[in-house]
Amino acid sequence: MRLLLPLAAYLAAALSPVTVHVVYDPTFTPAELAVLRAEARAWTDAVPSLRVVDRIAECCDDTPGTCVARVPRSAIDDAVGSSNTVAVTAQRPGGPIVYIDPEDPATRSGTFAHELGHAMGLMHDKHRHTLMYATQYCSLLRDPCDWPVPTFRDVSQWYILRLEGK
Ligand SMILES: [Zn+2]
Repeated sequence: MRLLLPLAAYLAAALSPVTVHVVYDPTFTPAELAVLRAEARAWTDAVPSLRVVDRIAECCDDTPGTCVARVPRSAIDDAVGSSNTVAVTAQRPGGPIVYIDPEDPATRSGTFAHELGHAMGLMHDKHRHTLMYATQYCSLLRDPCDWPVPTFRDVSQWYILRLEGK
């Protein structure tokens, strides 16, 4: 009993459905939108209890959900004061906002999935073979570039956040 109750609570929290609402900037092209949606799908493929519902609309400060803004890379660099950030997630009154430049060649497969992880509350992971690793990683000698989909560690971090009620 002592073990079963926490286990039941754990399973209930882990299995209860979570819906994330995403609002895409109307200036994304259909091709760009297809890429962003595929990256969001990487999360719902990895986490069965997660659902992403999206729409295309102008985003205001108080628009509920996660807004995704199409901005030039130079604006992202200016906003974060760095020249090596390809996308960034910030907070608005209505929820998170992801700034991304889909035209910049540095925006690779997995960039939006990483930012969506931040929008859902995930932090960076120190293991480079994870989606939530801070830096786009590419070694010609040993590894393929980046982890474009959530790994076991990313999914674990997602569940831990839900279990903590975040
Ligand atoms: Zn990050």
